[in-house]
Amino acid sequence: MTPAEAAVAELRGALPADRLIAGDADGLEPYGRDESDLGLFPPDAVVRVRTAEEVRTVFAVATRHRVPVVPIGARSGKSGGSLAVRGGIGVSLERMDRILEIRPEDLTARVEPGVITGRLQEAVEAHGLFYPPDPNSLDLCTLGGNVAENAGGPRALRYGVTREYVLGVTAVIPTGEILRLGRRTIKGVAGYDLTALLVGSEGTLGIVTEITLKLLPRPRHVGTALVVFGSVGDAARAVSRVLAQGVIPRCLELLDDVSLAAVARTAPGRFPAGAGALLLVETDGNDPDQVLGEIARVADLVSAEARGEVLVAQDEAQRREIWEIRKYLSVNLRAVHPLKLSEDVAVPRSAIPALVERAKAAGAGRGLAVATYGHAGDGNLHCNVLYDTPAERPAVDAAVAEILRAAVDLGGTITGEHGVGLAKRDFLEYEQGPEVLALERRIKAVFDPLGILNPGKIFPGG
Ligand SMILES: Cc1cc2nc3c(=O)[nH]c(=O)nc-3n(C[C@H](O)[C@H](O)[C@H](O)COP(=O)(O)OP(=O)(O)OC[C@H]3O[C@@H](n4cnc5c(N)ncnc54)[C@H](O)[C@@H]3O)c2cc1C
Repeated sequence: MTPAEAAVAELRGALPADRLIAGDADGLEPYGRDESDLGLFPPDAVVRVRTAEEVRTVFAVATRHRVPVVPIGARSGKSGGSLAVRGGIGVSLERMDRILEIRPEDLTARVEPGVITGRLQEAVEAHGLFYPPDPNSLDLCTLGGNVAENAGGPRALRYGVTREYVLGVTAVIPTGEILRLGRRTIKGVAGYDLTALLVGSEGTLGIVTEITLKLLPRPRHVGTALVVFGSVGDAARAVSRVLAQGVIPRCLELLDDVSLAAVARTAPGRFPAGAGALLLVETDGNDPDQVLGEIARVADLVSAEARGEVLVAQDEAQRREIWEIRKYLSVNLRAVHPLKLSEDVAVPRSAIPALVERAKAAGAGRGLAVATYGHAGDGNLHCNVLYDTPAERPAVDAAVAEILRAAVDLGGTITGEHGVGLAKRDFLEYEQGPEVLALERRIKAVFDPLGILNPGKIFPGG
């Protein structure tokens, strides 16, 4: 018997029968993929846990047999974090999907980690409340996955990313301790901030089984506008001017010329001649005049660079139409080139034009087009290397490495939201020095002395 087989046999005796998927290749296969495009890595078994105690049981068995344990959310991850690269036991949180409480009087919610992000947003909005983090995958990803990746989204510019909303978590660590970290109050500075350490730890320090989240009152009005520019440089200058004048919209999304050309294919004549970049701007608040006033102020500030009029949505239908440009961008790019590898670097906002240029050059040198779009307001851009056949993949990988290097050279980071995971573990050294990496390895060893939790992730060389 292999160690994994022995562990599965023991788990069969220790947990209710409906928790375990084992010895069923078809049943395990979906748990071996995510949205990273890195391939198929199914675990030897999956346990669909219902409680923190069950997670503790999995760790105890895995420790006895020295087999890996891999936390699995909705598998929408783009860096391969949930892939069982060394086999072992997948711990799926999909059945821990209860919203435990929403407390309007405290502006907090307590949830299990398998709750789909969009479901929580709808539930709190029914109370007039607001959970701002809005990854574009919000209809499929889980809050546990968001905590593990410290997910962000278009609204991060004004409202920040997941970390800003996590007041506390319950996490089970490989040594078997169930840790209740953090608090339910807005303020609180007792002890080390271990909650913050768990957020963004990509499922390598512990498995989160409960999350306490901060909520806000829901802004009652939203204003949306679309601005066309001649070039990315013009759009980036406009972004800087808007922010420098103290206007912080909730979203400032950028599309470069390659992205715009892909969108324009389906709607010829929609954008003025010479359009080379586009900004999607959104503001919000409780007073409709103030919201529209802010949009007008943005329009005024960008007028020097803009081509043509600033288009302001007059109703919900027009708002949706503007957002559809962003929503279907991926599909439109794939219509031009069927394959693409999407990066999520972030740079200081002043470096956006340089990043777009260097990303284009990294592709052009290898005969590849690069489309850059994303959250320009916070400098977090998706550079998509476009290609047509798998044979081009080595050139694509080389272009990606050059883009990641460029982001770090420009004072930025290799990942603004998707995490390092498996995809970028060999690039972490671009950004972090040997002392930092050594300290991170020591921290990992405190939580996980045997290295059984999600091995092969984040650290260079696996
Ligand atoms: C179309 C699309 C759009 C996207 N847009 C965005 C975006 O705008 N912003 C953004 O930040 N990301 C985005 N993503 C990436 C992805 O959705 C996020 O990283 C999300 O947080 C992953 O959640 P998940 O539940 O799918 O986790 P998974 O992919 O299953 O896992 C991700 C990582 O979290 C760990 N993990 C999962 N649950 C737990 C838990 N309970 N405890 C400990 N570790 C756990 C896993 O081990 C893994 O390392 C997008 C993805 C897609 C496909």
